[in-house]
Amino acid sequence: MTEGGGKVYIVGAGPGDPGLLTLRGKEVLERADVVLFDHLVNEALLRHASYAEKIFVGKRAGHHALTQEDINRLLLEQAARVGRVVRLKGGDPFVFGRGGEEAEALAGAGVAFEIVPGVTAGIAVPAYAGIPVTHRGVTPSVTFMSGRAMEGADELPLDELPRSGTLVFYMGVKASAAIAKRLMDSGRAAATLVAIIENGTRSAQRTVTGTLDSLEDLCEKENIQSPALVIVGDVVRFRETLVWFEERSLYGTRVAVIRARRGPSVLVSTLRDLGADVFEFPTVEARSEGEGAPIHDWASFDWILLASMNAVEALFDYLRAREQDARVLHGVKLCAIGVKTARTLAERYVRADATPDTFESEEILALLESESGPLKGQRFLLPRADIVRHSLREGLEARGAEVTAMDAFHPEIPAGSEALVNGLFDFAPDFVTFTSASAARNFHAILGQERAEALGRKSLFAAIGPGAAEPTIRLGMKAPIMPSTPTLDELVDLLVQFQRKNK
Ligand code: SAH
Repeated sequence: MTEGGGKVYIVGAGPGDPGLLTLRGKEVLERADVVLFDHLVNEALLRHASYAEKIFVGKRAGHHALTQEDINRLLLEQAARVGRVVRLKGGDPFVFGRGGEEAEALAGAGVAFEIVPGVTAGIAVPAYAGIPVTHRGVTPSVTFMSGRAMEGADELPLDELPRSGTLVFYMGVKASAAIAKRLMDSGRAAATLVAIIENGTRSAQRTVTGTLDSLEDLCEKENIQSPALVIVGDVVRFRETLVWFEERSLYGTRVAVIRARRGPSVLVSTLRDLGADVFEFPTVEARSEGEGAPIHDWASFDWILLASMNAVEALFDYLRAREQDARVLHGVKLCAIGVKTARTLAERYVRADATPDTFESEEILALLESESGPLKGQRFLLPRADIVRHSLREGLEARGAEVTAMDAFHPEIPAGSEALVNGLFDFAPDFVTFTSASAARNFHAILGQERAEALGRKSLFAAIGPGAAEPTIRLGMKAPIMPSTPTLDELVDLLVQFQRKNK
């Protein structure tokens, strides 16, 4: 950073797929104080800039666009005020992006700047449609043009139009009639192949192909919307064999993943690899210590009594929230009441010492006595995940045992949940996935019954297994579909099968 002044990073955001940001772009976003972004920028990228103020400076329905002068002025102001400013622009900032003008304004005012190039739509979008912009033996050159080069003030004379090679038109849909006519006038055959790619590299990518003389009709008939690119040339034919993006098994499928924690998720990346559009919905914050005395000295207990699958979940959520794991439980005996509870425990690679297959308090107490002698003076921990059987607690106390109830886990509603819920409804998921009981419970707590039901009317719920499904059913949400074996792969397969059937 220059002394006294700020620095502006003019960063290319890539064409839409958030994976197409450069490492340098991510790095400067992470350290940004403020981010000024355009309407072509995928807003998912803004999460890299978790500390920054975000200012939208693009055009959007109902909003007045800032003029380029306004934007330049804002850049200078912000640089002076806050220090690290990221100017995030779609694709590459210097390819039809007016990044050059912004850099000029900065240079003119003596403000330090850095250019972080981006992946331009003109190369990435055809690549995602299975079209290489050059190909040995077919096309040795490619020209990037704006639709404005074909009509209007910037119109190029006929003899300056390239006679051969691939042509890539940005902002070409409005100019499609002029593109076709003038290219044919300049000598290109009417049968030259063309492709129009709308929303390239995004989950809504759509590709239409035809010939040059049909270009305008195609745009109209297919109702092509911005942003879209027009590709002209022989390379379009490679799409027949190289199509890949639109062929993936979950292409165009919207999946909301209800998560119990933050950080990377195997399910999310698997779904994305298969072409799904994923909305991550975190439901749990690393929580602060609750009012109930936190448990530090696990070894001081003789028994932990787990009365339900929920209690097991709650115990492990408690550990996870404190960055601990099952090892702190060594030396403590575990009693899992009911087969399902024992199984839920076993799924976490922990074996119960007693597994009473009954819910009768007296029978359970008798089993505990036979395992560990008189209960007098023994210390019991009861995760209060759901209503602890009263009679069980009373029975323990009547026998002189010391009972500690653990305020196991109250879902801590993450900050900004309302915005998250609105985002979820806007996203309109085809599927909502649950991979843990606690995430399902917390999700219900965040949405509330009414909104959970409303979502269930539009989306299919899917749970990894009975444990995650149980709260959705018990709390009166929609019953989820479930794979026969509770693994992530099976869950993903299930969604794929559903989509295949619906195609
Ligand atoms: N600087 C950007 C281009 C900005 S001009 C870049 O390097 O990519 C805006 C035009 O880019 C749009 O009108 C459209 O023609 C093209 N474009 C940008 N993103 C696109 C996308 N995801 N799919 C198709 N075309 C896109």
